[in-house]
Amino acid sequence: MQIPDFLKNFQEYFVEAPSPLAPSSYVQAVLLRRVHDFSIFRTEEDRGLNTITLPKNTKDPSLIERLVFLYTKQKSAERRHAEQIIRRIKPNADVCYLKDNLCLGCPVCGLNGGIKAVKGLGEVSLRSRILYATAYSLGVFDASTDLLTFNAVDEKTTKTDQALGDREAILPTVTFPSIVTFQAPTWKELVFGLRYILETSRYGAETRGFGLVKNHLVGLIFANSELITPLDLTLRVNDEMDPLESREKDITTEELKEKTDTILKNILKEEALPSKYLSDNIELNIRNFDLNEEFIDLMYSDVQKMTDEIKSK
Ligand SMILES: [Zn+2]
Repeated sequence: MQIPDFLKNFQEYFVEAPSPLAPSSYVQAVLLRRVHDFSIFRTEEDRGLNTITLPKNTKDPSLIERLVFLYTKQKSAERRHAEQIIRRIKPNADVCYLKDNLCLGCPVCGLNGGIKAVKGLGEVSLRSRILYATAYSLGVFDASTDLLTFNAVDEKTTKTDQALGDREAILPTVTFPSIVTFQAPTWKELVFGLRYILETSRYGAETRGFGLVKNHLVGLIFANSELITPLDLTLRVNDEMDPLESREKDITTEELKEKTDTILKNILKEEALPSKYLSDNIELNIRNFDLNEEFIDLMYSDVQKMTDEIKSK
């Protein structure tokens, strides 16, 4: 299977086959994660939203409170969606799911890694080559949240109680600039990874379904190290968009994508390290890519080679 045209100029950053000893070659996907409904991102156990105080922008160090979109929350929701894609395309594939039944043989495990007990070998582990980072809201906490009243739901019976509960929820249009980094991916892994990220829409606690988000891909940075972080990105956008003023409702997704694209080009110039950047039509190209069975089968055989290599050592 040939590398698609839109990735041809970036061949030197891809590996032929995934390897546990990955070279320092990185593809950073710059995303905008935009909330589309009253949302709560939290794990099943903890309560309330995660926040942090951070500078206002790159020039003004005064601290403001922002919302946090934890990397663990992003990764687990997206991994789950990736598993669903595999089940759709290959219904008879080995069962694989978080967190106690990972197969270590599928494309999702190949990218995300995991640990599994194998007869005669003890524990086999695969490291993750898709690297997540916590993202920070563009707007200040007060402008990005509201106190909603819910019918309290009994967690065990899922029956609605009479009692009402108040809960802080993230408002629609709140946006988290985010980076997901692929370390030494094959071109197939990059396409597959980006595709399942773009398709993922639910980030709330699993039993509740809260947390509707639309993901947008601004661009890809190809380099020999990780050149930018989500914090860089949020602060840079805030140089131009006051975090105290905005809920981001006044700006369209398209405008925000363009603004971020320009900021990225400027950051890369300043970094002055060798890199390549791709943003033209990238989201559309990934969304339109034909994820068929042949493609997924080729990914399976790549992972098989990698796990065989690990087991033979
Ligand atoms: Zn798996």
